[in-house]
Amino acid sequence: MNISIIRSNEVNIIDDFIIQTTSGLYCKYGDFHIDPKMPVTCAIISHAHADHACPGNLEVYCTRATQAIMESRYSGQASFRFIPKDFYQEFFVNDVQIQLFSAGHVLGSAQILMVYKGVRYLYTGDYKIQEDATCEPIDYVKANVLITESTFANPEINHPDPETEIRKLCGISYNILLGAYPLGKAQRINQLINIHCPDKIVLLHHSIMRIHKVYEQFGINKLIYKAYDRKIMKQNRFKEFVYIVPPITFNSSIRKGDMVKVFASGWEHLQRNNSVSLYISDHVDWNDILDYIKYVEPQEIWTIHGDGHKLAGYYKDRIPVKKLG
Ligand SMILES: [Zn+2]
Ligand SMILES: [Zn+2]
Repeated sequence: MNISIIRSNEVNIIDDFIIQTTSGLYCKYGDFHIDPKMPVTCAIISHAHADHACPGNLEVYCTRATQAIMESRYSGQASFRFIPKDFYQEFFVNDVQIQLFSAGHVLGSAQILMVYKGVRYLYTGDYKIQEDATCEPIDYVKANVLITESTFANPEINHPDPETEIRKLCGISYNILLGAYPLGKAQRINQLINIHCPDKIVLLHHSIMRIHKVYEQFGINKLIYKAYDRKIMKQNRFKEFVYIVPPITFNSSIRKGDMVKVFASGWEHLQRNNSVSLYISDHVDWNDILDYIKYVEPQEIWTIHGDGHKLAGYYKDRIPVKKLG
């Protein structure tokens, strides 16, 4: 864990330092976008999930892992020019000093710290505090303004322990079709199954294999799995397989008689209609957000993704909370 401790109480926070535009979050003081929704001239990209990393930007600053995943996903269209940065390396985009810190969300995921005129603006991107052996642990960073995702910023949402969740699979004596996002979730689930349900054999859909290969390039070598092949399941009739597939394949699969369907997600609505629920999320839940805010000690909180009004209610009279766009 890297801890960055610089903070001043006397700061001039610029209200429009980051604004929401049709192409996504924009900083006019550095003339760059963060996680743009459509191609732009200069982008800083927090991680390679499709809703944060669109192809076709002219110039992209990101971690090397994010670059590798984007290149594998978008082949030649990922970006005209990548400018990869290591975690903690300081660099400037125009007058804004930038530093990337781990967000603990998926391999290579970064929080983006922007320092301008002595004020520290920290954009979390998607982040999690829960342990995940397949990506870098989150770095705790101090900031004057915390720009946080609020996907699960609701006191009713409390993600259960992932080990207890994954152990539910051990008790299922049928083959399992397991839906998971190909980047991050699939690798984490694979690792959890290897450790906690060692009798299960993990089979992977080809689109997930591609991301596993990038993880292996970056030193995540402990995953035990096989490429999916219809014949394997037939030949080994008495073994118990967990076939991990992306959501699109999961949703279009016709339920076979002896195949149990499970979807790994923190969202309740994605658990309906499945044989067993599997609440495993790569986002912070309510208590994790509060813990993180306590550490960051921001003078202001700006929220993105989700509505953030529960946070605003919770911090009423203590920390101003505003929704960005
Ligand atoms: Zn994400
Ligand atoms: Zn996201």
